[in-house]
Amino acid sequence: MTVPGCIAEHHPLSAYAAIGIGGRARYFAAVASMHDLQQAASFARERQLPVYVLGRGSNVLIQDDVVQGVVVVLSGAFKEMSFQPGIGTVTTGAGVPLIKLGAALARRGYAGCAYMGVIPGSVGGAVRMNAGTGPEQEIACHLMRVRVFDPVRIEESWLEKGQLQFSYRQSILSRMPRIVLEAIFRLPDQPESVQGQALADIKALFARRRAVQPHSRQTFGSTFKNPAAEHAAGWYLERAGMKGMRCGGAMVSPEHANWIINTGCARSDEVKELIEKCQARVLEKFSIVLEREVVYVPEDMGTALNPR
Ligand SMILES: Cc1cc2nc3c(=O)[nH]c(=O)nc-3n(C[C@H](O)[C@H](O)[C@H](O)COP(=O)(O)OP(=O)(O)OC[C@H]3O[C@@H](n4cnc5c(N)ncnc54)[C@H](O)[C@@H]3O)c2cc1C
Repeated sequence: MTVPGCIAEHHPLSAYAAIGIGGRARYFAAVASMHDLQQAASFARERQLPVYVLGRGSNVLIQDDVVQGVVVVLSGAFKEMSFQPGIGTVTTGAGVPLIKLGAALARRGYAGCAYMGVIPGSVGGAVRMNAGTGPEQEIACHLMRVRVFDPVRIEESWLEKGQLQFSYRQSILSRMPRIVLEAIFRLPDQPESVQGQALADIKALFARRRAVQPHSRQTFGSTFKNPAAEHAAGWYLERAGMKGMRCGGAMVSPEHANWIINTGCARSDEVKELIEKCQARVLEKFSIVLEREVVYVPEDMGTALNPR
């Protein structure tokens, strides 16, 4: 099979990761339609290559060297959104930025989804990660169902919320070879009565986060999940002395100990070394195991999307 037009070879990936780190994709496809996606998946199957999907790259650490596979990013038709107020739903393509969905809901007066307006991922990535800002403020609370694509069998199907097995920053999609194409969310009950309250909620949440989190920095947000313990991950990391700790160009943010930032020239290996140091220090000092939230590409995705 010749290389289809939608596929580029040896494509640089650092621009597709919020932390600005990453090598090259052996094959890369920014797919604008189902036809493109099917072509990319057929190409991968033909060559026995895994397919990896990236959203807005806000929670990934991509390896420094060549990612051997077909890296797919959803664009075009996968960025559409429509409201069905009559039946109380909103339908979005998986490539739609979650912030755009949150803002669209708020502009229509739907309260209770402010968290969507501040998380910098795509709808597809947010479903996979069950993104959120706290209990009752996460994707699992509002999602009804998703349309998914199996890149191995090259077929589409629907998964209901119950089948997605959501838990804290996780879903069955961490273990299942499926690409989210489209999501249907239940609209919050009634538009709120106070004009502009929903938009004000997003602004307030945004302001609260800016006060404690680094901004205008290259980062993937929280490095670790909060442990099932008394305090959040950042509390333990700070008291383990990690703020400002560096490995090459990677540094634990001096503002928030659970965030790692790229100071400009960090390599993926340096970030991984720093992550391991964080885990070791917290284990040593508090006997607490910190589990990574950030997804390593391709290590954390390989088996799920590998057709072999
Ligand atoms: C500044 C900052 C603040 C953040 N704040 C929060 C926060 O408050 N709460 C929170 O939960 N997260 C937060 N994050 C992390 C991140 O935004 C979320 O995890 C987000 O849901 C990731 O979406 P993405 O599209 O960027 O996915 P990516 O980072 O591109 O990918 C993450 C995972 O999702 C998979 N994926 C992406 N698209 C699809 C798809 N269409 N189908 C199937 N799988 C897919 C990828 O394969 C990968 O395994 C923050 C990140 C940053 C940089």
